[in-house]
Amino acid sequence: MQKINIKEGPKLEDYKAYGSLNNLVYEFLETTKKSIAELEGCTIWMINSTATGGGVAEMLPSQIRILRSLGVRIEWMVIEAKDESFFNLTKRIHNAIHASGDGIFTEEDRAIFEKVNAQNADRAVAAIQDGDLVVIHDPQPMPLAAMITKKRNVKMVWRCHIGLEEQNKTTRGVWSFLSDYFDSYDQFVFSLPSYVPEELKKKTSIITPAIDPLSHKNRILHTDKCIGILLQSGIISGREPLLYGYYEHQARRIMPDGSYNAVNHNSDLDLIYRPTVTEVSRWDRLKGFKELMDAFIMMKRENEASSDTSGVPYKRIKAARLILAGPDPAFVADDPEGEEVLNELIEQYQSIDPDLQADIAILLLPLDNPKENALIVNALQRFSNIIVQNSIQEGFGLTATEAMWKQRPVLVSGAAGLRFQVQHNVNGKINEDPTDLISLANMIKNMLNNPKERDKWGFNGQIRVIENFTLFSQIASWLSVLSKLR
Ligand code: UDP
Repeated sequence: MQKINIKEGPKLEDYKAYGSLNNLVYEFLETTKKSIAELEGCTIWMINSTATGGGVAEMLPSQIRILRSLGVRIEWMVIEAKDESFFNLTKRIHNAIHASGDGIFTEEDRAIFEKVNAQNADRAVAAIQDGDLVVIHDPQPMPLAAMITKKRNVKMVWRCHIGLEEQNKTTRGVWSFLSDYFDSYDQFVFSLPSYVPEELKKKTSIITPAIDPLSHKNRILHTDKCIGILLQSGIISGREPLLYGYYEHQARRIMPDGSYNAVNHNSDLDLIYRPTVTEVSRWDRLKGFKELMDAFIMMKRENEASSDTSGVPYKRIKAARLILAGPDPAFVADDPEGEEVLNELIEQYQSIDPDLQADIAILLLPLDNPKENALIVNALQRFSNIIVQNSIQEGFGLTATEAMWKQRPVLVSGAAGLRFQVQHNVNGKINEDPTDLISLANMIKNMLNNPKERDKWGFNGQIRVIENFTLFSQIASWLSVLSKLR
């Protein structure tokens, strides 16, 4: 078990200084006073399985910083595990919650699961005091609760960041395996109501994922800064970046022959001049990239068949570009499935006409430097007119939240997490079935050709995020859940 130090970062004053967040921060300070007072004298312990990578590790530092600045005692510990069989098992558990795999877990699996947690239990018990509150994140450290409560009189919360709406044999299998640990917990927290197993419903609170508006992925980037980042990363070219040098690793683009090269090597992406439709995600079949490319091509073809080629609507669709962006596989170890999906997209790309190839860019973003990667995603989103998240299945879909925060209108599928965030024709559009290409193509066209509506949806989107999906809503929910347990 390892205690994690929290680095310096944005303070409450910095959030308050953002005009659009000012009210939110004041309201937050007002509404959380009571629960903060109720938590006096105890320490909150957050325990998960990694200090880097993944949404939990990304969000915890900013939450902890804000809470500490308000006088709340809160610490973060990470379980240590060297046993490969433990990681294989927890990966299988994770996949099974998403209905993949056979859902069969044996007593041998349970022995591995508990052994690694037992190795971490003593240090956890040594740090935690009677009266404290302990939050265990995700399945990996789940068995710790019973081990801690045997020695300490504390309240335990299990925070599950994953889930699936549908249940089948696999999901039932994994939940049955995990149900042995339920009794050690006083409260459960899930991301969406539809992810909660039936037997836990009475003891569960919902806290959705959220964004930190001041993180590198979300903070404001003025046009010169945005252009600087795009130059540094090679997404635009033609001149040297002014203030800072090139990133060590540049973004790359798939070439018409399927090879990888500099983004503007074969034809200019022209990002800053053209209407741009963008999806940023991992290379995962469930993200609906293939269907999005097909629908975009369909829209382009239909446009070429139109009779009025002198009007702006025709010209706008003709000028529009599609960007499909995801991690450069050179920086992702051990993701054969991701590479397979990327290769399928490359094959699809190789098979289309050259003029359409110029209008579609599959971008590979470097991942060696998390700050640079976040800034590239931020700049790309800000230079896009529409952000699409065409997921076949989606836990929540932070890419949509990130886009709405940036006042970008979103076009999302009806997958659970996305439907929860986006309101159709209020802050974007929901194309219920991501495989319905005709409807998807029509919606992209409709959004592109309605700039005023797009602006309105973008503004509404930011309000939606401010009211529901920022760090502050998340901390307020946590304070409410935890103070009730005292
Ligand atoms: N992302 C990124 N670089 C990439 C691809 C994705 O930073 O090359 C980020 C994206 O901006 C978002 C996160 O990865 O913050 C993905 O979270 P989401 O909830 O959308 O989907 P998940 O990957 O968890 O299924």
